[in-house]
Amino acid sequence: MSNDLRLLEVGIRQKVFKAIDIMKQSFELKSLGVEDICVVETKRTLATQMAYYSRGRMAVKDVKLMYNAAGLYNISNEEAKTPNTWTLESKHLEGKAVDLAPMRNGVIWWNAPHEVWELMGEIGESTGLQWGGRWKENKDTPHFQV
Ligand SMILES: [Zn+2]
Repeated sequence: MSNDLRLLEVGIRQKVFKAIDIMKQSFELKSLGVEDICVVETKRTLATQMAYYSRGRMAVKDVKLMYNAAGLYNISNEEAKTPNTWTLESKHLEGKAVDLAPMRNGVIWWNAPHEVWELMGEIGESTGLQWGGRWKENKDTPHFQV
């Protein structure tokens, strides 16, 4: 799992840089309480994608083994039981996707209000990215791709 923007494909990299720049300067996001923007994940290995995919689909002990084999963190039992992804064919594997999240009080603000995610989505779209918050099924609000 990496959050290195340099691992992104050239075609998406500039759009992501631009989007993050606009998000960081957005007065509207600031007024909603966003202090910064966090790059959660860029390019993903197949081992990581498979580990994510195993969540909620395999026994907890096997999910833990998958996480370990992929070099990920020690996942809790609760997380291991919770599905995390619906596909093995993520754009993250090709370096054509990024997950961005708002930050507040120095930590990722996962339960930020809908307006925050919506605004971040619109900003990403304005730079030419597709936003996972528009998907009809399996909405993925931190996710942007080309
Ligand atoms: Zn994503």
